[in-house]
Amino acid sequence: MKGGYRHVMERTLAIIKPDGVSRGIIGEVIKRLENNDFKIAAMKMLHLSKKQAEGFYAVHQGKPFFESLTAFMSSGPAVVMVLEGENVITRYRELMGATNYKEAAEGTIRREFATDIEKNVVHGSDAPETAAFEIAYYFNNLEIVI
Ligand code: UDP
Ligand code: MG
Repeated sequence: MKGGYRHVMERTLAIIKPDGVSRGIIGEVIKRLENNDFKIAAMKMLHLSKKQAEGFYAVHQGKPFFESLTAFMSSGPAVVMVLEGENVITRYRELMGATNYKEAAEGTIRREFATDIEKNVVHGSDAPETAAFEIAYYFNNLEIVI
């Protein structure tokens, strides 16, 4: 045990959302990943269609923010990444900060850069099951560097 974590090798799906790309802070996010020893196992840029954004966020279908969220996520290019490492799902969510940037801890990506509860710059999977679905949504095995 170190820092209260069990040592579990994991992968997670990270996204720099369209607000982060259009505002020119791709580098700020990647710098924080590298400074905190996150291993980037895959990365590409893409522009989701509305339907593709709806498929990715299917878990939120029916919620009041679903329409606006999927319009936003398909409004421009995004950078999608696979991060790999011990406890990376939790570690990356800690680096991102809370969904609502006003509640996010000092020094987190969302606290520093988000402008809105929706336009909060980054996405990260929240559990091993969602990570598996989300990674497979964007990447095949050949695209993930072991
Ligand atoms: N979101 C929103 N309003 C809300 C909750 C969420 O616009 O009240 C957006 C926000 O962009 C968030 C995404 O929907 O990142 C997915 O919501 P979730 O609860 O899964 O938050 P996350 O896992 O991204 O922290
Ligand atoms: Mg989520």
